[in-house]
Amino acid sequence: MKYPPVSNYVGGELINGSNGSLDVLSPIDGSIITKVFLSSAEDVDKAVRAAKEALPAWSEMPIKERVQIFFKYKQLLENNMEELTNLVVEENGKTYGEAKAEVLKSAELTEFACSMPQLLSTELLEVSKGVECREERYPVGVVASISPFNFPNMVPNWTIPNALVLGNTMILKPSEVVPLSAMRIVKILEEAGLPKGVLNIVQGTQEAVEAICDNPGIDAVSFVGSTKVAKIVYRRAASNLKRVLALGGAKNHLIVLPDAHLKMTASNVAASMSGCAGQRCMAAAVMVGVGDVNHIIDELCNEARKIVPGENLGSVISAEAKERIENYITEAENDGAKILVDGRNSTVAGKENGFYVAPTVIDFVKPEMRIAKEEVFGPVISILRVDNVDEAIEIENNSNYGNAAAVFTQSGGAANYVTERVSAGMIGVNIGVPVPREPFAFGGWNESRFGVGDITGRSSIQFWTKTKKITTKWNPESQVNWMS
Ligand code: NAD
Repeated sequence: MKYPPVSNYVGGELINGSNGSLDVLSPIDGSIITKVFLSSAEDVDKAVRAAKEALPAWSEMPIKERVQIFFKYKQLLENNMEELTNLVVEENGKTYGEAKAEVLKSAELTEFACSMPQLLSTELLEVSKGVECREERYPVGVVASISPFNFPNMVPNWTIPNALVLGNTMILKPSEVVPLSAMRIVKILEEAGLPKGVLNIVQGTQEAVEAICDNPGIDAVSFVGSTKVAKIVYRRAASNLKRVLALGGAKNHLIVLPDAHLKMTASNVAASMSGCAGQRCMAAAVMVGVGDVNHIIDELCNEARKIVPGENLGSVISAEAKERIENYITEAENDGAKILVDGRNSTVAGKENGFYVAPTVIDFVKPEMRIAKEEVFGPVISILRVDNVDEAIEIENNSNYGNAAAVFTQSGGAANYVTERVSAGMIGVNIGVPVPREPFAFGGWNESRFGVGDITGRSSIQFWTKTKKITTKWNPESQVNWMS
């Protein structure tokens, strides 16, 4: 094993979870790189107690002082970029460039958190003669953040900087498949000066997540992962009267009109469906071709063939994921779809035990096929053909999901027509991965998100704080008005 076994991090101490352990595999070559100790409800409770103990001092520290730690943290993320990037590559299997982009994004997220003092300056209004009303924000308290495998560095950083700068203390539950990056993050935060107990990590699986949803000491839960688990977490934590924001899976539709720019569209669609081996909630899953788009499909296939596993394409996360993805492709083929580029049975020389699927382009997919409806989470694009843009919008609107959508056209009018009508939270115009940058917020619609508000950007302030409205009167002359 390359790394020592992974423990929990509670109140600044490493403590092994008491609920057994799991091997952690490198998706690149299938070797065991470490093992992770899993947590029970009691282990979660220890972390909650540590977070509760740290809360008064942390939440009472002026925000300008809390932010200083995150200025240092951002600098340390940059100083440790190489190591953090390689850790993501090793445990997740994405390419070096993709992993580095993820860590850079974490630095950008931290930069945004450092602007919180400016964003939090309060509103004050004279609401009646001599009577002032003002609003103050307070941390929610002890919060939890549960993350998926596909962005081991970035997704924890969607929540850590904002929630902590806003005065909360946290329990982070990383994906058990990629437990290493989170442990580096907390050590770097410690180096930046974060007091012990402000960020605690519990490793684990379903049992740890259920304990988080049930623990009365936790005030708010954020979750990022599949829709199936997002629903479980949302229901369970909300039934325990917690504030919950649960982001789920995706099935993103790119609507391509015949006038779209040929090269730009083909390369954007190919990059969107295959980046991070298709394992991102912003990946293109369905291309809805309107009218005659054969020229664009031909070019898309050319682009897809340039993306080669082990060179500019990483692995998928596990043998099970590879099998699932390949089964979807085979089923679509058996149901009458045409495989234009086939990524099944892909291997990389010298890494024959790695989990690789090459880009796959499937034409003539029908809306009722499973591959058109369900999240495949691999480098696969299904092409559905329609006669007009209203049919394309209808197909997008019929999806249970609603994370992202995009339109490719050179007509501003057509682009507006589509962006106004698609049912998704993040929309691209000639952009295949329309991730909003701070201060705009990340978040989808429909079954891609449960709860109110978004997880990053300005919108996250609502989730991580509660407001106090203070009405003040000092001047005796104002006794005569309605507030007296
Ligand atoms: P997952 O739902 O399997 O796991 C997410 C977390 O939930 C992990 O920490 C895991 O330990 C825990 N978990 C798993 N099964 C559980 C259960 N039965 N009960 C309680 N907890 C459980 O997701 P994943 O496979 O790690 O990540 C991929 C999924 O995440 C995809 O669906 C992807 O679209 C989604 N995702 C969404 C976004 C977004 O912003 N909407 C971002 C990244 C990933």
